[in-house]
Amino acid sequence: MRAEKMESTLKRYFGYSGFRPYQKDIIQKILERRDSLVVMATGSGKSLCYQLPPLILGKTAIVISPLISLMQDQVMALKQRGIRAEFLASAQTDPTVHKNAESGTFHVLFMTPEKACSIPGSFWSKLLKVGICLFAVDEAHCISEWGHDFRMEYKQLDKLRAILLDVPFVGLTATATQKVRMDIINSLKMRDPNVFIGSFDRKNLFYGVKSFIRNSQFMDEFVREISKFVASSDSTIIYCTTIKDVEQIYKSLQEAGIKAGIYHGQMANSAREESHRIFIRDEVYVMVATIAFGMGIDKPNIRHVIHYGCPKSLESYYQESGRCGRDGIASVCWLYYNRGDFMKADFYCGEATGNQRRAIMDSLVAAQNYCLQTTCRRKFLLEYFGEKFESDKCGNCDNCTISKRECDMSREAFLLIACINSCRGHWGLNMPIDILRGSRSKRILDAKFDKLPLHGLGKDHSSNWWKALAYQLISYGYLMESVKDVYKTVSVSRKGAQFLSSSTPAHQPKLVLQVTNEMVD
Ligand code: ADP
Ligand code: ZN
Repeated sequence: MRAEKMESTLKRYFGYSGFRPYQKDIIQKILERRDSLVVMATGSGKSLCYQLPPLILGKTAIVISPLISLMQDQVMALKQRGIRAEFLASAQTDPTVHKNAESGTFHVLFMTPEKACSIPGSFWSKLLKVGICLFAVDEAHCISEWGHDFRMEYKQLDKLRAILLDVPFVGLTATATQKVRMDIINSLKMRDPNVFIGSFDRKNLFYGVKSFIRNSQFMDEFVREISKFVASSDSTIIYCTTIKDVEQIYKSLQEAGIKAGIYHGQMANSAREESHRIFIRDEVYVMVATIAFGMGIDKPNIRHVIHYGCPKSLESYYQESGRCGRDGIASVCWLYYNRGDFMKADFYCGEATGNQRRAIMDSLVAAQNYCLQTTCRRKFLLEYFGEKFESDKCGNCDNCTISKRECDMSREAFLLIACINSCRGHWGLNMPIDILRGSRSKRILDAKFDKLPLHGLGKDHSSNWWKALAYQLISYGYLMESVKDVYKTVSVSRKGAQFLSSSTPAHQPKLVLQVTNEMVD
């Protein structure tokens, strides 16, 4: 009986003929009043999980959402479907909305977290009397300091648990590692929650990474590439890490006669809305933006998401690149990184201290490792999010499809691992590489590293070459990087130690590695 009602309500309001994977189970559990944590990829249809129950039960769903523009978009879309929806925020000045909300007029009532925490108890008791069917926290990763988008206001939401005693709490997010998941469950004081983790695998997305140097030659190539996408009317988002980059790329595109939208946090609201509008309506095919352009973009036919610069975390990379190919058609995510991106720890850490600082550093290292990965990118991403990927090759990423030159680097690997072993985990990569390259800098002489037998044995390769080798050895687990305060140190793993112990200076076990673009002498 309930299953039929679910299907008919879905059809009546949304016109969909069936549920997407997990939606039905999730909604059923919410109707049974179970707390739920929903972790599913962007575009998998999470919103329906809180939109349908109020229509079935005729009670209000409260939905916490971080951005007013996002709430406005959703309210508009719901109203068009004949669903009664509104939002409450400090910017909402219409007094009738408040009154109607209290008397249970709305199916879906959006609120900012600030509003939800500051609204008087009398409001909640009135609304509870007419009926609240669920309390949903959208973008729930914002609650966690370990997430990529921590927001203080989200932390206070636990106060509402005591007021909304019997209301099921539902957390929804697209990206959450185990740590973040636990944080959401604990922060919202969920009781025996049902945890739904959909697959993160977006099979229609191709993942690839390229390194670049900021110069005019690269910019010309880049613009040429973009002009090809525009010529075939493909929508593209170019995400930059800084406003300066956004402006530069925008300018280069304009100079090449390519119409584009521009979007960043320092633009006036009206200008941002205009950019958003022309992009959504296909009046321009390219959007150059910082990550301020994002949450709630529901454009199904974005074919390319390009990151110009290494993102601050894989969580945010996955979310941003996930805006590509929502309609299921093959689409492409390229990440362009510059070595300098890896030195930006201080820029990203800002005032953060303690745990928060550590979390930021860990995220940066993970994003960097993704860039330097020489094996399947999809496997790496999925395993980062705790999902098992059975095969070693997905066949739809650069490392799986573009053939790379390989060569036996056993001797070089031996030298580097042995040298890092001599440094005993106290240094980053520069020190052991300088030793191998025979440097006589002050810090080498002070530490008497010039007396090591390895000193100078790696002269015939550049330091970039050695770094590229080191990153491969890290990704294959021979070396480990860790973060001390803001410094990265490198040490030899158990696998690396085994390699050393089965080697002699004259003979090492065979180790075939890739000759990457970075290995230039
Ligand atoms: P998420 O919040 O997980 O990023 P959305 O809720 O925005 O995803 O849904 C993504 C798209 O999928 C939307 O355009 C939505 O209308 C569509 N959608 C959701 N559920 C269904 C369904 N059962 N059948 C068809 N389309 C659906
Ligand atoms: Zn792959």
